[in-house]
Amino acid sequence: MSIRFDDRVAIVTGAGGGLGRSHALALAARGARVVVNDLGGDVRGEGGSASAAEAVADEIRAAGGEAIAHGANVTDEAQVADMVAAAVSAFGRVDILVNNAGILRDKSFTKMGMADFETVVAVHLTGSAVCTKAVWDIMRDQAYGRIVMTTSSSGLYGNFGQANYGAAKMAVVGLMNTLCLEGAKYNIRTNCLAPVAATRMTEDLLPPEAASLLDPALVTPAVLYLAGENGPDRTILSAGAGGFARAVITETDGVVFKPDAATPEAIAEHWAAIDDRDSARELKAGGEQTMKFLSKAAALQ
Ligand code: NAD
Repeated sequence: MSIRFDDRVAIVTGAGGGLGRSHALALAARGARVVVNDLGGDVRGEGGSASAAEAVADEIRAAGGEAIAHGANVTDEAQVADMVAAAVSAFGRVDILVNNAGILRDKSFTKMGMADFETVVAVHLTGSAVCTKAVWDIMRDQAYGRIVMTTSSSGLYGNFGQANYGAAKMAVVGLMNTLCLEGAKYNIRTNCLAPVAATRMTEDLLPPEAASLLDPALVTPAVLYLAGENGPDRTILSAGAGGFARAVITETDGVVFKPDAATPEAIAEHWAAIDDRDSARELKAGGEQTMKFLSKAAALQ
């Protein structure tokens, strides 16, 4: 079964280089008409130029595909609205959004100013929300949408010097969880990619020998899978160096005490049962946790 995107229209943010460029080229090669978005700034998000996005759109057209470039800053609602309008005007619809744009402002938390915290959160989290909001009603009205957020192992598991980035990257997982619940009846599926690749973002972080194995093109099949018509929903897919793995948030079944026995000492005493990983499962909505505790508490009455 080949995964194709004929007649689909995709917006890929931050697609002027690195992973986004790879995703845009591959979507176009499989039939999608692509909006190549990029602000064209440096890795800290400073400066800007339309040329990065234009060059990738040119590359797609040179290969026989269809693409337009747009330099919207993903955090700017008016610019993003203009980008979505340009997509609809050029191609008639928007089926796929890959929220890939990102920046780094690494510092240990001790040295990190709140401006660098907020700027990183703005691009990754607010930028993903702004772009998603701009296409959401289009996807609802056409009862079709595939959204890919870009999370990171830094968010899922932590990384020294990346408190801002890690917080923002985990936040898009939270955004996905609720969008899945709200989008389900409109056939809008949202997933997260957790990539690792050699790009300008990782050139100071990865040893050169690792970089040769970490071609961004080896991550892109995960995006094509997640954004496909028969792709999953609410899935965090890690990808890099040709490897693919699923990250899952689970919760143990837990232990419920009677009100007068719910003490910190009881938690300590029953820790093995509270932490029983064999009982852990994925919860599909926050309310499932409430119901779990309520039903166990009611049974103790
Ligand atoms: P990159 O710097 O090559 O790509 C990011 C792109 O986003 C750049 O082209 C940049 O100009 C663009 N961009 C930044 N701010 C923007 C804004 N406000 N509006 C529009 N475009 C903007 O780095 P990359 O490694 O290709 O990163 C792509 C995504 O993957 C990012 O979200 C990054 O956090 C994530 N990621 C990368 C890795 C990795 O190993 N490379 C690991 C985990 C997550």
